[in-house]
Amino acid sequence: DTLINQIAAGEVVERPASVVKELVENALDAGARRVDIDLEEGGVRLIRIRDDGKGIAADELPLAVSRHATSKIASLDDLEGVTTLGFRGEALPSIASVSRFSLSSRRIGEDRGAVLEIDGGRLGEVAPKPHPQGTTVEVRDLFFNVPARRKFLKAERTELGHIEEWLRQLALARPDVELRVSHNGKPTRRWKGEGDQIDLGLSDVRIGEALGEEFARNALRVDHSGAGLRLHGWIAQPSYNRASADQQYLYVNGRAVRDRSIAHAVKQAYSDVLFHGRQPAYVLFLELDPRRVDVNVHPAKHEVRFRDARLIHDFVYRTLNDALAQTRA
Ligand code: ADP
Ligand code: MG
Repeated sequence: DTLINQIAAGEVVERPASVVKELVENALDAGARRVDIDLEEGGVRLIRIRDDGKGIAADELPLAVSRHATSKIASLDDLEGVTTLGFRGEALPSIASVSRFSLSSRRIGEDRGAVLEIDGGRLGEVAPKPHPQGTTVEVRDLFFNVPARRKFLKAERTELGHIEEWLRQLALARPDVELRVSHNGKPTRRWKGEGDQIDLGLSDVRIGEALGEEFARNALRVDHSGAGLRLHGWIAQPSYNRASADQQYLYVNGRAVRDRSIAHAVKQAYSDVLFHGRQPAYVLFLELDPRRVDVNVHPAKHEVRFRDARLIHDFVYRTLNDALAQTRA
């Protein structure tokens, strides 16, 4: 089974950043209000993610790390309407097969915590361990048993940069959750959460944190619904003077995705109104009935497929076109 998991890991776990993404997504799916992310050596030596979500019962720990065991969907029907970030049940077994791994947790309502360790895929025994409500996943020495993979890891700075970019992407979608990051024992970033509420809308705070005050000041707010679709978020106006090809964030039902058709609609709306060859910077959220979109296209879940792609393209184009045109009137 270890071999099968390692093969699956090839698709899910490319580098430390993919581990961080999967584990933070699990924390968010568990309803965490705060997530601590501790890293060493760009995540290669250590990734430790602790959350205050609902936790996992001691006797469920082995299930959580077994292949295709997900608690998030129970049937094919559920898969068609999936609303959680995870649903394939692959991340934990894949990660555990290519690292020294431990999963500690205390389930909400239980008074004892437990831990399960896995060393390069070798499953240990569940043992009692004190733990606050929630879950901690520790991933040490990533790819220690897959030298071919390890060889492709880049310098500490580069791997850390990839992690930070994923965290920014997750943070933008969940301004209600506090994220604390440390690297080599030093706090490096804190994304404020509900506890820090000041008078600005929380999501405005996070937009400034994520993309800078300059973006926040120059971005147009969009929020439009129709035909069972809602598009909301921010698009930079021409007054935003910064190369922005790397500031293009698109979410479908809260999941960060790449979608060429929507990216095209945004760019087209932007250049048609503003006569601008420049790449638009944006953070846009598309919400629709989950049954209208297939999220199970790729193991890493970066892509989706729409039932009515043309309609969605036109909706995005029209919404942004109208909103931008008004700023010129
Ligand atoms: P998936 O997220 O696709 O269900 P994973 O392999 O990422 O698969 O996780 C397997 C299962 O372990 C999840 O379905 C969930 O029940 C449990 N789990 C993982 N991480 C957490 C967490 N941080 N808090 C609570 N439960 C978790
Ligand atoms: Mg998951």
